[in-house]
Amino acid sequence: AGGFADAFSDIFGDIFGGGQRGGGRSNVYRGADLRYNLEVTLEDAARGSETRIRIPTMAECETCNGSGAKKGSEPKTCPTCAGHGQVRMQQGFFSIQQTCPKCHGTGRYIADPCTTCHGGGRVKQHKTLSVKIPSGIDEGDRIRLTGEGEPGVNGGPPGDLYVQIHLKAHAVFQRDHDDLHCEMPISFSTAALGGEIEVPTLDGVAKLKVPPETQTGKVFRLRGKGIKGVRSSSHGDLLCHVVLETPAKLTDRQKELLQEFEEISQGNAQRHSPRAQGWMDRVRDFFGS
Ligand SMILES: [Zn+2]
Ligand SMILES: [Zn+2]
Repeated sequence: AGGFADAFSDIFGDIFGGGQRGGGRSNVYRGADLRYNLEVTLEDAARGSETRIRIPTMAECETCNGSGAKKGSEPKTCPTCAGHGQVRMQQGFFSIQQTCPKCHGTGRYIADPCTTCHGGGRVKQHKTLSVKIPSGIDEGDRIRLTGEGEPGVNGGPPGDLYVQIHLKAHAVFQRDHDDLHCEMPISFSTAALGGEIEVPTLDGVAKLKVPPETQTGKVFRLRGKGIKGVRSSSHGDLLCHVVLETPAKLTDRQKELLQEFEEISQGNAQRHSPRAQGWMDRVRDFFGS
């Protein structure tokens, strides 16, 4: 038994069409939209592909052909509301319409419900859909499958299914819109002397010239080796971030050579290690002031 507040919300709900409340059997509703989260590899997103998804759906019960009544019986007109789906209730000063509590607004009453669907007329099933993934699709993009959402009510149109794209993490590349980024470890002798190295791209290996005296953090841009986005007119770039690798598990001979290298470099740090020299100068100024 609701007070005034409830009575008002019921009235306004009916006037302003508050959802599916108080619906009689003649009310027609569009089915709800559904969302499906789809994980896509970077390669499939870049080149486009086609995949199949399995989604749950409510289908008409085959046992009762959707009537909800047991075989051999039929739904009857609801005795409480005489099939109107609504009943008139007296609440305080108001006489208000309410959804029939016996038939929940359908206007029909099933005395002997179907054992397969328990009177609902629908059963849960799965359907398989084919989804075309356009090339260049990105994280968060949505593909709409018209009419593949929930079925409509009382003959209303079905909703749509939105396939939401999530990119799987890639072992080599990180995507940033149309650009790709990758880390590129190089030996410190290659970094110092320069050389040609091979870098991975989405369509195979590319050669990259590393100039002498390349420092860690340097970024090389390979134009057009990124991804062509769905709404883009050209490919993005591949950005290779240089990381100098300190040599590991050194042999005695290698250590010997490095020690010798260090000894002959020490006399002229200004020339061979300008960054370290500049840093030491700043530290000295910091303590000196
Ligand atoms: Zn049934
Ligand atoms: Zn009723």
